[in-house]
Amino acid sequence: MFGSPKPQISSDYAERRGRLIIAITGSPGVGKTTISHLLAERLKAHHIDLSKLALEEGLVEEWDEERDTAIVDIKAVKRRVERLQRRYGRLIIEGHYAHDVAPKGSWIFVLRRAPWRLRDELEERGYDAGKVRENVEAELLDICLSEAIETHGSGRVHEVDTTDKTPQEIVEEIYEVLRGVRPPRIGVVDWLGRPEAKQLLEWLEDVSHR
Ligand code: ADP
Ligand code: MG
Repeated sequence: MFGSPKPQISSDYAERRGRLIIAITGSPGVGKTTISHLLAERLKAHHIDLSKLALEEGLVEEWDEERDTAIVDIKAVKRRVERLQRRYGRLIIEGHYAHDVAPKGSWIFVLRRAPWRLRDELEERGYDAGKVRENVEAELLDICLSEAIETHGSGRVHEVDTTDKTPQEIVEEIYEVLRGVRPPRIGVVDWLGRPEAKQLLEWLEDVSHR
């Protein structure tokens, strides 16, 4: 079923398909939830939204009043993920800190989206200016990607620029990497080097002084 005439770059996918964790990470609004549901269907894997899991099971250290967000107990979520993986075998975990709770040996897919488009997406979601700024900055500065590489190395980290790709195209790309017919790649986006970045930086400067 997963056979390919080409040399297998990550043939371990087929061998390990009974026990595999696939982490879908990236800044809020890049498309993690959309993609991970489609991927779960495609791979017949169990899907976990980490933010939901943490809140539903109280795996939270405290509430950050200023940022109006829960501070997740990363270690507790990690233990829970490992237990769920033993139960379900093949697991897709999604969330902006999925790379932090994925055990060693997991596949990490970092979804990227042009930060000027992300700003529109997050404003549409009704996020306040501070939260939009924080997340747009994180995307601009490759935060999730660099954290993922720092923790997992680059061998099983793959970056996908989702801007102007359909969810189906993105799922297909991830599937190809998992099957070993497409080598994993990082360094595919350079937001700061793009002409649109100038205006975005001015906007960031502007909102930080408001
Ligand atoms: P996240 O889980 O990373 O916050 P979502 O999956 O909720 O992101 O997606 C954010 C928004 O972008 C949703 O409205 C979703 O329908 C839309 N979206 C997701 N993937 C794509 C895509 N590839 N192209 C266009 N819109 C997308
Ligand atoms: Mg989501």
